Amino acid sequence: MADWRDEVEPWVLESRIKVPYTWTAGETGSHYLLELKDNKKFWGTRCPQCKRIYHVPKRNCPECFTECTEWVELGPLGTLRDYTIMRKAEPRLHTLPVPFAYGVIFLDGSDTGFLHLLYEYEEADLAEGLRVEPVFAEERTGHILDVKYFRPAKAVS
Ligand SMILES: [Zn+2]
Repeated sequence: MADWRDEVEPWVLESRIKVPYTWTAGETGSHYLLELKDNKKFWGTRCPQCKRIYHVPKRNCPECFTECTEWVELGPLGTLRDYTIMRKAEPRLHTLPVPFAYGVIFLDGSDTGFLHLLYEYEEADLAEGLRVEPVFAEERTGHILDVKYFRPAKAVS
């Protein structure tokens, strides 16, 4: 006996789902984020083998795979290595009004850069080598956006 389901061609619909989720930041990430939240301090890790200092901190050195066991306080000032200016608003993604910039920042003491937001700048001042300082959020939650953005450092050091 034929089943009517054998004659129905599957109809495929495309859609998107949004799935809220949580995850642990891990031992290294938790230490880093809680120090940002509670003490407004940046920490990196140093590889005992190749001596490279990572920011954001790594549990294991991506160059030589040695466990990074030493914490090193970094910054809070840093140097801008590269940037791109955002001129079109994307409210679902951006926390700042346009124009703002994304920059690769090497915190003082770190051998690696990280990506963060730039704001409160004069566009003509944006250049490789610009000294920048963090602007922390009043209410911090243990997130990388506890630093709202970086801006040109007021005092050159
Ligand atoms: Zn290493």
